[in-house]
Amino acid sequence: MSPRDGSSATIFAPFSGILVPLDEVPDPAFAQRLAGDGIAIDPLDQRVVAPCDGRVLQVHRAGHALTLSAYGLEILIHVGLDTVKLKGKGFKARVKAGDDVRKGDELMTFDADYIATNAVSLISPVLVTNMDRVTSLRPRTGKVRAGDLLLEIGTAAAQWAQITELQRDALRSSPIVVTHEAGLHARPAAVVAAAARQFTSDVRLVKGDREANARSLVSIMALEVARGDSITIVARGEDAQEAIAGITRTLTTDLAASHGAAPAAKRPERAAAAPKAAAPSRDDGALRGVPASPGVAVGQVFQLRHDDAVLEERAADANHERRELDAAIASAHLQLEAMRTRVATEADADRAAIFAAHQELLEDPEVLDAAAQHIREGASAAFAWREAYTAQSDRLAGLANPLLAGRAADLRDVGRRVLHLLVGRDDTPHDVPSDSIIVAEDLAPSDAATVDRTRVRGFCTTMGSATSHVAILARGLGIPAVAGIDPRVLDIPNGTRVILDGDAGTLQMGPTAADEGEIAKRQAAAAQQRNAELAVAAEAAVTRDGHRVEVVANIGDEKEARQVPEVGGEGVGLLRTEFLFMERRTAPDEQEQTRAYEAIARALGPDRILVIRTLDVGGDKPLPYMPMGTEANPFLGERGVRLSLNRPEAFRAQIRAILRASKVGKVAMMFPMISTLAEWRAARQLVEEERSALGVPRIQVGIMVETSSAALMADRFAEDADFFSIGTNDLTQYTLAMDRTNPRLAAQVDALHPAVLRLIERTVAGARKHKRWVGVCGALAGDLQAVPVLVGLGIDELSVSVPIVPAVKARVRSLKLSECTETARQALDAADGAEVRALVARRHT
Ligand code: PEP
Ligand code: MG
Repeated sequence: MSPRDGSSATIFAPFSGILVPLDEVPDPAFAQRLAGDGIAIDPLDQRVVAPCDGRVLQVHRAGHALTLSAYGLEILIHVGLDTVKLKGKGFKARVKAGDDVRKGDELMTFDADYIATNAVSLISPVLVTNMDRVTSLRPRTGKVRAGDLLLEIGTAAAQWAQITELQRDALRSSPIVVTHEAGLHARPAAVVAAAARQFTSDVRLVKGDREANARSLVSIMALEVARGDSITIVARGEDAQEAIAGITRTLTTDLAASHGAAPAAKRPERAAAAPKAAAPSRDDGALRGVPASPGVAVGQVFQLRHDDAVLEERAADANHERRELDAAIASAHLQLEAMRTRVATEADADRAAIFAAHQELLEDPEVLDAAAQHIREGASAAFAWREAYTAQSDRLAGLANPLLAGRAADLRDVGRRVLHLLVGRDDTPHDVPSDSIIVAEDLAPSDAATVDRTRVRGFCTTMGSATSHVAILARGLGIPAVAGIDPRVLDIPNGTRVILDGDAGTLQMGPTAADEGEIAKRQAAAAQQRNAELAVAAEAAVTRDGHRVEVVANIGDEKEARQVPEVGGEGVGLLRTEFLFMERRTAPDEQEQTRAYEAIARALGPDRILVIRTLDVGGDKPLPYMPMGTEANPFLGERGVRLSLNRPEAFRAQIRAILRASKVGKVAMMFPMISTLAEWRAARQLVEEERSALGVPRIQVGIMVETSSAALMADRFAEDADFFSIGTNDLTQYTLAMDRTNPRLAAQVDALHPAVLRLIERTVAGARKHKRWVGVCGALAGDLQAVPVLVGLGIDELSVSVPIVPAVKARVRSLKLSECTETARQALDAADGAEVRALVARRHT
C-alpha cells in the first residue's frame, strides 16, 4: 500500500527483531502509551534504518532515540528502555536533525551488548507521537526483518491533502551573499526568524552542507553566517514561493540597508540586540550599580544559578508536563514583558532590547521542539526544558564567533527563568563557599533559603534597586548589597576576589592588600559600635528631653520575627506578606497563611505589636499564578490593595487568616497603596464582614501612606483609620515622579526631599486631628540622617530592618525633641534632599 494514497501510511521495521506489544513493555510511560502508540521490538541486529521516507526531526542529545517526520506523522524510534542515562555511550547517530532520508537509509548503530548490560532492557519502542493525526493503528505481531511491514496507520483524508502539500518538492532560492556587517548574528538573525514566522511553509537556510530552521534564532545563529557568506533559502509548503521572496527581501534589502543598525523588522520591538557594550563602569574599573544595603565587604564571587538544581527526571503524564511547560513559558513571557516595559520607560533601550531578545528565545522552535520531544519520551517538564535549552546554549557557546557565543548566556538566562518557574521554590541548597559575595541576575526570597547565610558577605544583582527584595534581604541580614549593577558582573568567574561597597554601590575586582587592610579597619570600627549599641538595645528609645519613640522592625518571615526581641525591637511595624506568596506556583491557602501569621505572632509574644500588611504585589511584581494584563505603567496600575480588591475571594482569605492570627498576638492589619477613600472603605468593609462572621474582637486597621493622595487626604482617612504607616519608598517615587528601581535616577530619589517631608508633615497633621498614631516603615526610617527629621515631624514609630534596630534606638537617645522640631521646620523649607542632609549634618553630628 502506498503511503501517499489518501488515508493510510505504512511504517516498516527499522531493524530485525521480535515484536512486543506496548502493553508488555516494562516501562509504564511506554506501556501506558504516554509517549504515543505503536509497537516495540526486541532487536536482533544493531543497525537502525529509516522505516519510510521522511525527514529527521530530532536526534536525541543522548543519541539513544530519534524522531522522523513523514506524511505529517512524527515517528519516534527509542532504542532500549531508560537508555537516556547511558549519556550516548553505545550509540552512534548516522544522521542529524534536518536530514532527508529514504526508506532503508542507515539512521543509527548501537552496541547491543553494552546496552543490554547497562540499561533496563533492549526492548525498543517505535511510536507515533502525534496521535491526534491518527484514526487507526494496526501493529503486526511475531517476528520482523528490517524493512518488513511494521505498522499500518490510518489518518483522516483531509489531513493527507495538507501533508501531501507539505511533501511537495522544495523550492530553492538562488544563492544570496550576506552583506550585513556582522553576518547573521543575533539581531539580524532575529529579524530573519521573525520574517520566516510570517509564513506557514517549512523554511531552511542552507550554508554549504549545513542548514538551519529559519524560524529559529538559535538555529540561524548556530549556522555561523559571516559577512560575505553565500546562503540559499529552501522552502516547502503552500506559501514557499512567498516565503523565499519575503526572506530574500529581508536579507538583501532590510538588513543590507541597516548596515548593522536597527533593521526594518516587521516586529521591531521584538528584535534582539547585542548586549550593551558600554555598560556603566567607573574609571577605576569598578562596576557600578545602586547602593541597596550599607556596609562594605571583601569576599569571593559566587554566581548563584538555578540550573544547578536537582530535578525529577521522569514524569508519568506527558500531557500534564506539556501544560506545565506552556504555563511556565507564558509566565516567563509576562515577567520579561514587565521588565522590558519598565526599563523601556526608563529610556534604557539597551536593557529593554535584551529582554526583548529573551522573549524571542522563548519562542524559539528548536528549543521548544526539543523540549516537547523529551516530554513525549517521558521526561518531566523541568528536566525536558533544561535538556533543551542547555543543549542549544552549549551549541552556541561552542561557536567560534564571540558575538554569537555570547548569546549562549542569553539563552541560559531565559532558560533558567522558565526552569525557576517550573520548579517553583528551589530549595536545593547551594554549596556557597565562605566569604561569598553572591552575584545573580536577581534574588528572590527563596534564594535566601538556599544559601548558608553565615557564609555570605554581600549581594550583588543586575536587577533590582535600593528598595527591591535584594535590598530588603541584605538589610535584614545586616550585610552590604548593590543592585542594578552592570550585567557584566555575571561573567566574573567564581572565586574572584572583590570588594562590594554597599554605600557607594560599586563592585571592585582584584583589591590590593592595602585596600583590604583599610576595609578591615572600617569593619572593626563598625562592629565595635554595633556591640555597644546591642548591649543597651533592650532599653527604650527616649530622647534626652524625655520623648519616647517606638522602634519596631520590618520583617518577611518567622525567622526574622524571632530575631526582633533579641535586638530590642518593640514589635513589627511591617510584615511584608508577599514573601509568602512569591516564588511558588499556587497561592498559599487560608490555613497555610494562618499558620504562618500565628507563628510570627507567637515569636513576638503577646505584648509586641505585629502589623500585618495585606498582599502588595502587581505592577512590577507579578505573581505567576495571578494572571494580569500587560500594563504600560505598572507602577500606576493594578498593584497593592487595588489588585486585592479586584480578587475579593483571595483577599477575604488573607483577611480571615490575619484575623484568626489575632487570637494569639497583638495583631494589626494595614493595606498597601491606598490612594482613595473608596478603596479604604471597601477594604475596611471586607474586614468588618469577615470579623463579625468569625466572631473575633476588633483589631487596629490602618493604611499605608504611599501615595500623595493618601498623604494629602490624611485628615479624611484618619476619621476611621486607626493608624498610618508611611511607605517612603513608594511615596518618594510618586511624589518626585522618579521610578525607585531606575539605577539612573537612584542618586536623586532621596526620601529626604522636602516635597516628601511636606507630605509627611501633612499626614501627621491629619492623624493628630483624630488622635491616630503615625509610623514610618519605608527605608527612610532606618536612615540615621533622617531620624532627627522624622522625630521632629512628630513620627511616633520607626519601623526598620532587624539588624539596625539597635542603631536607630541609639540615634534617638542621642537627640533632643526640641532640636529635632527646629531641624524639621528648617528641612521643610530646604531646596532638596542634599540640603536637608547638610542641615542634619550641621545640627546633629
Ligand atoms: C514603602 O513603599 O516604603 C514600603 C515600605 O513598601 P514596599 O517597600 O514594600 O513597597
Ligand atoms: Mg510600598
